[in-house]
Amino acid sequence: MSVSASAPVIPVTRTSSPRPHPAEDALGFGKYFADHMLVVDYTEGQGWHDARIVPYGTLALDPAASVLHYGQAMFEGLKAYRLMDGRISLFRPDRNAHRMATGAGRLSIPAIDQSLFVQGIAQLVATDADWVPSAPGTALYIRPTIIATEPFLGVRASRTYTFYVITGPVGAYYAGGLKPVRIWVERERVRAVRGGIGAAKAAANYVASLQVAEQARERGCDQVLWLDAIQHEYVEEVGTMNLCLVIDGTLVTPPLGGSILPGITRDTVLTIARDWEMPVEERLVSMTEVRDAHAKGTLQEVFGVGTAAVVSVVGTLASEDGDIVINGGEPGPVAQKLYDAITRLQYGLDPDPRGWRMVL
Ligand SMILES: *Cc1c(COP(=O)(O)O)cnc(C)c1O
Repeated sequence: MSVSASAPVIPVTRTSSPRPHPAEDALGFGKYFADHMLVVDYTEGQGWHDARIVPYGTLALDPAASVLHYGQAMFEGLKAYRLMDGRISLFRPDRNAHRMATGAGRLSIPAIDQSLFVQGIAQLVATDADWVPSAPGTALYIRPTIIATEPFLGVRASRTYTFYVITGPVGAYYAGGLKPVRIWVERERVRAVRGGIGAAKAAANYVASLQVAEQARERGCDQVLWLDAIQHEYVEEVGTMNLCLVIDGTLVTPPLGGSILPGITRDTVLTIARDWEMPVEERLVSMTEVRDAHAKGTLQEVFGVGTAAVVSVVGTLASEDGDIVINGGEPGPVAQKLYDAITRLQYGLDPDPRGWRMVL
């Protein structure tokens, strides 16, 4: 994939006060922001208009703006990677554009033009190219967001929106190799429900998870395993990542049934595993099956997959019924091999037969 030469150039207003760059060994996640942002407005009847790159700064919102009352808000998350040769690459940004456009419908938000999404981000990242870090495992995190801005308290979809994209350097997730986490199996509260908005990257899905995640931390767990909203039995997602299991040599992940976010890393993992001719199944997995497989010794690996960490290994599933320790609490070979393969693609260390990299 390459930046189209015919893409309209978005006007840039450069900052007059560039900020100092943080040290690359202490970036963390979501703490630092680059100098510029992309902003596009939507007005009913006019569509998306006035794309511009401007200095990073506050947004002016009317206190009646519908996003503040009825929650019409959604976002995306992707990264720009510094390649070995110094160039910068995005990874499958067309998939983020597609997901934002398709998820928008469920939230009554007008779809953002997918080429504007990709080209706008490419130009924004090029504008802030000096903010893309180069230490191993670091990246420039990109956060596209849409909010409803109409000052009107009647309950209906807003007629005006703002799409904006901010970016910021983020640190290496794993300094000393994949670190298994302890996960709380939540049997009562749910993240999303079939028929609801779980398949869209809606801000509201995150609200539903915060209290549970906080209580999981109080129990010494890092994140939450979400079960289905009806039987509280079928595994769905882990934290804000899609869930993968290796059961008796087969890579298994729950099917996208409306309550699960269609992760781009999930799709990348399934595609690569099929390339390796590893058996892959998208099917329901119950907690009973997880427990039985563990008892039989066939529950080989459990891990989450998502853009932020790529792969997050589950060492222990904790619940009122006791702990399930997976693979002796150590990362397994499939998680490690997928992590290596995907990061090597993202950082340009391996050939890219599917054209997943978009080099700027
Ligand atoms: C963003 C997200 C994911 C992961 O999606 P990626 O495209 O792989 O980053 C998984 N689950 C939830 C709930 C998410 O919000």
